[in-house]
Amino acid sequence: MPAIAVLTSGGDAPGMNAAIRSVTKVAASRGVTVWGVEMGYDGLIDGKFRPLTRQNAKTASLAPVGEMEAMGSLGGTILGSSRCPRFHTREGRAEAVSKMVGYSIEGLIVIGGNGSLAGAHALAGEATVPVIGIPASIDNDIGLSREALGVDTALNTIIDACDRITDTARSHHRAFIVEVMGRHSGYLAMAAAVATAADAVLLPEQRRNRDEVVKAVTECIVQSFGRARDKNRVLIIKAEGVGIPTHELLEEVGRALPADQSIEVRGTVLGHLVRGGNPSFRDRLLAGRFGLVAVDAVLAGKTDRMVGWNLTETGEPTSDSWIRLFPIAQVLEETKALLDGSSAVTIDRVRRMEAIQGVLSL
Ligand code: ADP
Repeated sequence: MPAIAVLTSGGDAPGMNAAIRSVTKVAASRGVTVWGVEMGYDGLIDGKFRPLTRQNAKTASLAPVGEMEAMGSLGGTILGSSRCPRFHTREGRAEAVSKMVGYSIEGLIVIGGNGSLAGAHALAGEATVPVIGIPASIDNDIGLSREALGVDTALNTIIDACDRITDTARSHHRAFIVEVMGRHSGYLAMAAAVATAADAVLLPEQRRNRDEVVKAVTECIVQSFGRARDKNRVLIIKAEGVGIPTHELLEEVGRALPADQSIEVRGTVLGHLVRGGNPSFRDRLLAGRFGLVAVDAVLAGKTDRMVGWNLTETGEPTSDSWIRLFPIAQVLEETKALLDGSSAVTIDRVRRMEAIQGVLSL
């Protein structure tokens, strides 16, 4: 029976387990065995493989939930994930290739973010087996896929947290700065700001310096609580990557606010809370659809490609009208442009954000 392997690598994201489930079930339906690789590229180098056939998943104690079906609804990744410095070296990757050859593995599916896809690209250039990537990153910072796995769940968690914070902020007429993950990408902050009717949003893509950020936040709070608007809560969403830590921003804004108005400003850093949780409907749906196309691509011998949710005519069409295959090199190039601000997608995001700034503060 032919065999393929699947691993999860880099930052975990809700939906990774649903993608593992999809890969396993689709492969089983094609008469192919799946090896689950533990702890990302570390496990690939060290040969930490465990069978993920539906039968084994039922009997083995390896999965926390024996049933493959139930596993898909769990957050995190049952295979484990890692950052693996050895995979940056040619020797490390050669060891991984020899382990795959030893297990007669005929294809590899890598579920992960930008770094993991860069690793998959490097491996594909050196391995004889096909390598296909599935984008997973709560930051939504992977080029050519409208969304990566985990983004939808993360946004649902953020808006739930903001709703709760709004309840208490409204009761005390307070301003809250809520920080969400996103070191280089403000996508989560931007999307959440629209969905929660926040009063302002701070993104790394705006490239504002410290003083500009403090000034913008102070003005927003003063205007919102001012007589003309008389709001009972102010919600400001800040992406992690904005160049001033939230606790320092709170201090500086506290000093800059007019003393006679006794405005209270609090901060909450959502941090890793946003990474966890059971995947949403959309992440499970995407995971199922990505998994099917990824397995069929690997079995067709396609390599160095990523499956992307993309409704344009770019890339290669697949059996799924939502999903297209892109060379990973092209994905990495677009990812770089997304992060350095030169991508049309980033330019459009920032332009849209600027266009609604006036609306946000109403
Ligand atoms: P993410 O996939 O979430 O972006 P990382 O950036 O930490 O997470 O990458 C995960 C792993 O992918 C790294 O620890 C490393 O093993 C591998 N990796 C990242 N970049 C490369 C690269 N250029 N070449 C080979 N392997 C890489």
